Amino acid sequence: MLRRLRDVMAGIGTPQQRLDSTVQVIAHELGAEVCSIYVQRPGRVLELCATQGLNPEAVHRLFFQPGEGLVGHIAETRLPLTLAEAQKHPKFAYRPETGEEAFQSFAGVPIRRSDRVLGVLVVQHVSMRELTEEEVESLETLAMVLAEVLATMSLPGGDPGRDRGPLLIHGLRIHEGVAIGKARLHQPRVVIGGVVAEDPAVEHEQLRAALADMHASLDRVMESEALSAAGEHRDVLETYRLIARDTGWIGRIRDAIDSGLTAPAAVQRVRDDTRSRMAAVKDEYLRERLADFEDVALRLLRRLAPGEEVLEVDGGGEPFILVARSMGPAELLDYAGDQLKGLVLEEASATAHVGIVARALDIPVAGRLAHLIDEVDPGDLLIVDGDHGQVFVRPGDDARAQFRESLSAREALRARYAALRGTPAVSRDGARVSLQMNAGLLVDVTQLDTVGAEGIGLYRTEIPFLVRREYPDVEAQTELYRRILDSAGDRPVTFRTLDAGGDKRLHAFVHDVEENPALGWRALRIGLDQPAILRQQVRAMIHAGGTRSLKIMVPMVATVEEFRAARAIVNLEIERAQTRLDEMPASIAVGAMVEVPSALLAIDELAEAADFLSVGSNDLLQFLFAADRAGARTANRYDPLSAHFLQALKRIADAGRAGGAEVSVCGEMAGRPIEALALVALGYRSLSMSAVSIGPVKEAILSTDINALSEFILYSMKKNTGSLRNRLKSYLADHR
Ligand code: PEP
Ligand code: MG
Repeated sequence: MLRRLRDVMAGIGTPQQRLDSTVQVIAHELGAEVCSIYVQRPGRVLELCATQGLNPEAVHRLFFQPGEGLVGHIAETRLPLTLAEAQKHPKFAYRPETGEEAFQSFAGVPIRRSDRVLGVLVVQHVSMRELTEEEVESLETLAMVLAEVLATMSLPGGDPGRDRGPLLIHGLRIHEGVAIGKARLHQPRVVIGGVVAEDPAVEHEQLRAALADMHASLDRVMESEALSAAGEHRDVLETYRLIARDTGWIGRIRDAIDSGLTAPAAVQRVRDDTRSRMAAVKDEYLRERLADFEDVALRLLRRLAPGEEVLEVDGGGEPFILVARSMGPAELLDYAGDQLKGLVLEEASATAHVGIVARALDIPVAGRLAHLIDEVDPGDLLIVDGDHGQVFVRPGDDARAQFRESLSAREALRARYAALRGTPAVSRDGARVSLQMNAGLLVDVTQLDTVGAEGIGLYRTEIPFLVRREYPDVEAQTELYRRILDSAGDRPVTFRTLDAGGDKRLHAFVHDVEENPALGWRALRIGLDQPAILRQQVRAMIHAGGTRSLKIMVPMVATVEEFRAARAIVNLEIERAQTRLDEMPASIAVGAMVEVPSALLAIDELAEAADFLSVGSNDLLQFLFAADRAGARTANRYDPLSAHFLQALKRIADAGRAGGAEVSVCGEMAGRPIEALALVALGYRSLSMSAVSIGPVKEAILSTDINALSEFILYSMKKNTGSLRNRLKSYLADHR
């Protein structure tokens, strides 16, 4: 049947005549009263292009908007749909011109090629009969053959599935900035040349050879020394190796070949099935396992069919924008380099871990961009606007000019900040502020010199754990911390112990499902309940420290007792090291993060107990105002410049001074110029922020008289409630 269909479609006659014969053949073979082909047109509108059984007058006159009706729904979800009674489905849209009221059942599948939806294939019956799983599978196989022929047919009204005009896709802001470059697909689409096999034996042999080749190559990479240099990660590969030998998976590919498909088409069929299942799975662990199958299928497909990726994009050393459905943090690191200018993702939330790496690389990122993969071809020009969370696909002249302007304005600004690199941050009236940077990856550390940071005020140790699947042992941690200290040279580094849990779920950890993860078993709580974790971290830090001074900071301290318990654990490790190591760090300071409101109530005692305090304003604000920092409606709801929050911050600064603990702020607010000035005015002399914020904050400090500002703020805090932002802005504008 497959061969017959292919012959009809590739045979003589105009494209329309061939489509007409195709629907007749399919309807006949499947014993259906109706068979229709809808083709996707520019704007993702679906047009009825051929039908057997519906009113022929409706051909080229019936359209469904994206997501409209059952047909639009199938194209949108990319999933098959089978219904005994079509009218009962909430998406059913009645179109009198079709005469379809006579038909009860409905079954449709997307027509896909290289991940792109070209249209929808539908069969309908008079009787109420839901298609069996096998029947849906054959329909999907037919759709594959259809896709192959449709892609080479020139239909009136343009090529199906193609919208080559400019397009703007709105999504979610993940990291700010703008960038222009050619699209490079993270997973190059694979083009399957032939779908229908001439001889199954030949296809089985091809599959066998490709599998053997893939197994051998995975084994080779696992054994090679250059494992991490090649950007591959051992634990990921180990999983792939197991999957690649999974007999169930291979068996399903073999069955697909037996049904008449070529080897690559069979792999693609099984891959499509896995994807459909992925869409329905909620469990994160299972989703990841299915995603591993997807990756292995792609590796196998690349051996069986050529990739679509345009070589010039891959090898030409041109600036590129990476395009992906979703992506892990470690994968993004593999692309890090001069030519990676931005990242756009079809999925991903603002807190996705890949965002952490993107921020470290300081490339603009937009996420949750609907139909991105469908709309973009490799080599297409893209403009990522991270500030507004959008992407311009194949931008027109206007958009290009506008973005070139915005790009050059940013570059000018950067150059201005770069010129301040060596200048210390001293206010007009002589207040000296230490500006440090937050980091979490080795690539961050390289920014120390670029932006002129005086040290690392917050090194988030959980971030390197996030990009691994396995928990790093003491040796691996020591190596990592040593490399950071080495890159920082004589600049101080404050290591924060593991702040896992909450939104930072580690692969290597079993996190319980918690009702309120932000208030859950996380950070220091894990460290105190499982002291081995904390001890290993501290041990690695001491080993890495050599004779340098060490600063260790514990997150989420809720009570003074917790801090004392953490310090006792550090002391155990100091004693252990003293008996074993030849050299010890010159000093080991232990500090507490102030980010839980209860710590505020005990701030005087905490300042006595700790060597230093660092305000985690992100969490402090979230917990004080009971507003989720990651929630779209809650994140920016309360202003850190509100009088009462500033009172709390002043209280911490005062307590630190009285208790002899150095105080700093390492939350996001420290990196925003107006907020940073307010903090300096409240008495903070040390701020830690993302690298890109150092320039703007320094410029603000250089041009401000802190004493005068301090008087103004203290007075305003007494006289007002609510946000002081507007007052502060006017004051700063008046004082240039
Ligand atoms: C904070 O809470 O302000 C902070 C700096 O830590 P994190 O953002 O890692 O929670
Ligand atoms: Mg925090």
